[in-house]
Amino acid sequence: MAKCIRCGKPASVHLEGLHFCSDCFKIHVEKEFEEGIEGHAVGSRLVNAQEKVLVAVSGGKDSMVLWYLMHKHNFNIIPVHLNLHYGFFSEKSLEVVKAFSEKIGQEVRIFSVKDDFGIDMEGVFKKAKNRPRCGVCGTIKRYLINKIALDLKVDAIATGHNLDDGASNIFKAILNWDFETLSRNSPLSPPYKDKLVKRIKPLYRLSDAELKAYADMMQIDYTSEVCPYKIGSVTLSKSKEVLNEINEEFRGIKRTFYYGYLRNRDIFKKEEAELKECKICGMPTSSEDGICSFCKLTKDIENEKEI
Ligand code: SF4
Ligand code: ZN
Repeated sequence: MAKCIRCGKPASVHLEGLHFCSDCFKIHVEKEFEEGIEGHAVGSRLVNAQEKVLVAVSGGKDSMVLWYLMHKHNFNIIPVHLNLHYGFFSEKSLEVVKAFSEKIGQEVRIFSVKDDFGIDMEGVFKKAKNRPRCGVCGTIKRYLINKIALDLKVDAIATGHNLDDGASNIFKAILNWDFETLSRNSPLSPPYKDKLVKRIKPLYRLSDAELKAYADMMQIDYTSEVCPYKIGSVTLSKSKEVLNEINEEFRGIKRTFYYGYLRNRDIFKKEEAELKECKICGMPTSSEDGICSFCKLTKDIENEKEI
């Protein structure tokens, strides 16, 4: 029987060629979370204890583990759930988030894209029929979460993006020589003026598999329902798959690849152009016509050519 790499007791968790007993696995996950917050490989601490943080909780395993860990480590957090109204998927997500809030005794703020912001996602998808739905949905979520964060006057927004998300994004960006992504992909995105709130990804040192094993071990509720609108980038999901295949053969290469990028990403750095203010909502935009992508998707405007 395989032995735990930390204490030598019989191992019960076997991931990426490493074996842990359950106690040591918990310690390992929390240590990686803490090192993530400290900004190892990023070059600067993601967030300080006194900062107020909005934790975006979708109900999936990553954001639920993030909520649990930030709560456990006594960060000053406001968990926020955005209801997208995607049928059973959204009902299940809401149920999980509410149940967890009760279980740990911490209030979760719930917002509805429809009732609080008057957005009909079906209508948005129809309007942007030539774009991948996840990209469209992501634009709406990012904008609204930022708006909620500004209203709640928090210092940072934390999301549950993990190591696999980060590494596959960079892998895909290299395949496409997408310098835009390579220049600004980081677990720490600084604030922009008083319009865009700092964004952090404290789970960037933990893999999909580690987070799933941890959530199950700690009995953290999450939903595994698949979103009915999930049509993301094929290159991105393939990049994730290929990286995991290579990692099977060359253990640890996924981490080496991603941490290497983080340490050296300044080589891709470029002069940031001053952003314009959206003619409709006033938020920063790089769009030529001065209308941000959120307004193009949600407002009744004539110029729809870039959608
Ligand atoms: Fe949105 Fe895509 Fe996530 Fe569904 S899977 S919630 S469409 S980003
Ligand atoms: Zn706008």
